[in-house]
Amino acid sequence: RHVSRKNREDKVVKINNNTSIGSGDFTIIAGPCAVESEEQIFSIAKYINSLDIEILRGGAFKPRTSPYSFQGLGFEGLKLLKKAAKKYNLNIISEIMDPRDVEKAYDFIDIYQIGSRNMQNFALLKEVGKTDKPVMLKRGMTATVKEWLMAAEYIALEGNDNIILCERGIRTFENYTRNTLDLTVVPILKSLTHLPVIVDPSHGTGKTELVIPMARAAAAVGADGVMVETHPSPCDALSDGYQSLDFEQLKKLRKEVNIIKKCV
Ligand code: PEP
Ligand code: MN
Repeated sequence: RHVSRKNREDKVVKINNNTSIGSGDFTIIAGPCAVESEEQIFSIAKYINSLDIEILRGGAFKPRTSPYSFQGLGFEGLKLLKKAAKKYNLNIISEIMDPRDVEKAYDFIDIYQIGSRNMQNFALLKEVGKTDKPVMLKRGMTATVKEWLMAAEYIALEGNDNIILCERGIRTFENYTRNTLDLTVVPILKSLTHLPVIVDPSHGTGKTELVIPMARAAAAVGADGVMVETHPSPCDALSDGYQSLDFEQLKKLRKEVNIIKKCV
């Protein structure tokens, strides 16, 4: 198996030759749930650059539960991301949902994101597996560890082993939180695979006030980083505002995970 640990060294996934995930540093990936406008994405890019965060997230194609909800700006959103990333020297991660968009999006992004709902979209996995760009594979909301690793295997089998796993919570009977963030998978994955593991406490909890505590926990349990949603004005966000951090909260998160990282 391409993704099993065996005697392999920890995989360091290089992003665009200027940063990497899994090198021992704790990576913070931040940005809005969705790219909404030039003004919004530029203000976020500027702020995360001022915090020395190197990877900007932003959805252009949004997998919304309702077809009547904001679906994202599509390629227009990818163009805005690229423009903002260029100005502020950032790397971009963005979700692609359609295998036909993989090639078209190639020049706009640095990391392909495969969302929870598409973890077992095998046609999409094979398509990103044929590229030479890193892929972040989010855990399916009802996926077991084995199913998740087999999905990663589909990507690796096509020749691309630059894979980052992202725990984003699973569906359980508990509905106080949006999902149940399963942090036990971090040490489990560390023993089963050499791939880096990122935690998404935004979708994992669905509540702004739980994002920082669970990011601290992710650092304590040995994750390689976190991906969090941030917005200049979370109340006005077109999607997922209730789980987004404002700029001050993002700064606090960075400070607090750094303290934990120094202890572990
Ligand atoms: C996202 O990160 O933009 C997202 C839609 O998350 P998930 O696929 O984990 O629901
Ligand atoms: Mn979101």
